[in-house]
Amino acid sequence: MENLSPEAKQLIDLIDKKEKLVAMLAPSFVVVFEPMQVIGMLKRIGFKYVIEVARGAEETNKQLLALMKLHPDKRYITNPCPTVVRTIRNRFPQLIGYLAPIDSPMVATAKITAKKYPGFKKVFIGPCALKKLEAKEDYPELDILSITYKDLQDIFAAKNFTAEEKDKKAKFDISAEDTRLYPISGGLAQSSGVIKKFTDPEYDVISGPELVAKTLQEFLNKPELKVLDILNCDGGCINGPGIVSADSLDRRRQKVINYWKN
Ligand code: SF4
Repeated sequence: MENLSPEAKQLIDLIDKKEKLVAMLAPSFVVVFEPMQVIGMLKRIGFKYVIEVARGAEETNKQLLALMKLHPDKRYITNPCPTVVRTIRNRFPQLIGYLAPIDSPMVATAKITAKKYPGFKKVFIGPCALKKLEAKEDYPELDILSITYKDLQDIFAAKNFTAEEKDKKAKFDISAEDTRLYPISGGLAQSSGVIKKFTDPEYDVISGPELVAKTLQEFLNKPELKVLDILNCDGGCINGPGIVSADSLDRRRQKVINYWKN
């Protein structure tokens, strides 16, 4: 128990107190877990509902496309990655006005959850330690507890909680399909249709800290660039710091694509 993160301890406390819980599972979960099995395990451990964050990503896409339609002359940097958002705030404040004022998939999913399941505690489970800061610092009013996949694995281990055959029959309570590509670099551009609507110099897809810094550095000198789909981890969220996996980046990408095609 002493090795658990504060957020993991908080979730154990909520589970033990039998609080009303909703899990919001980020789309990279298939890199770490058996897709349906983990939904069953979450339900057995104490979550009443399990929601696919890919559903919130649909709202993120809709909001971005609506903005671009409303302001065709404006240029946008996508905001689902809290590390990129913080890099801009801290190192490139001149670009803050270009950050698309839209809900990240976590935030959009939390809003959907609050409407559909009022009175339930929202728990985001994803690949990213920085999502803990996004939840706490940027959206305290949404009351999201954010944990990583590693935290969830630690919780399962701390409670000696193992998978059962029946878990595989579980299903999401709210799901979405096209946006399951989101955790791969370029998943936003592809699932939103940005790739089809714009030509190459008008959009760009970037991942990896060095390329992120270089691209942000050059952003103001590229007026032709209308939308920048940008994630800090190399290859996207499938390479996030909250993922413990021996799989190569290619294998992780393939797992997401296989799940998306299902
Ligand atoms: S790219 Fe990395 S840092 Fe950014 S949201 Fe995804 S996991 Fe987090």
